[in-house]
Amino acid sequence: MDFEFTDGTRIEVGTMYGVGKNYAKHAKEMGGGVPTDPIIFIKPPAAYVPDGGIVKIPEISKMTHHEVELVVIIGKDCEKIKKEQAHEFIAGYAVGVDVTLRDIQNKAKSEGNPWAIAKGFATSAPISKVIPASQFGNMIPYFKIELLVNGEARQGAPTSEMERSVAELVSFLSVVFGLRRGDCIFTGTPEGVGEIKPGDKLHAELKGYVTLDIKVE
Ligand code: MN
Repeated sequence: MDFEFTDGTRIEVGTMYGVGKNYAKHAKEMGGGVPTDPIIFIKPPAAYVPDGGIVKIPEISKMTHHEVELVVIIGKDCEKIKKEQAHEFIAGYAVGVDVTLRDIQNKAKSEGNPWAIAKGFATSAPISKVIPASQFGNMIPYFKIELLVNGEARQGAPTSEMERSVAELVSFLSVVFGLRRGDCIFTGTPEGVGEIKPGDKLHAELKGYVTLDIKVE
């Protein structure tokens, strides 16, 4: 599967990285503060769902949550880069929903087990079309992200409220994992996470730029 850019560019979907508790008010609603060290998890490429697609909640979960997030798409391989260089390696920006099996995640947390199933199951990563980063020059812009479920506002926040900036996240991941063209980063969700159920319609926006519509089954 490919990321589709609004200018027609396509890049094959690679590893998808996720960041935990990157907005203070969300960290609080999850019961805790902003972590001292970044919390990172991974979704496999098969988790990707393009705009207009379907999120299928697996039978193993009885409580699945939405987390609307700014998604950063990497355009060039990089290793050990400084945050000041990060913009050179970003291909574009999108809005995504980090669909999370909250009951499975809570059990994993309490037992000290990995989050792979809760975060990485098939269809856990719906992502909109991608806005090319080139239109912002050397700037990494702030956006407003928003999520409606069945037409009702559930989450909305400016990405300026992120605890670790896009540049810091790109730099950190490049040091620990190395990043490749087609990798992407779910940069964390603001407060207001909540349940989604089969039949729900999700509508997310990178305000003024791009939208994402997804059905839940
Ligand atoms: Mn998330």
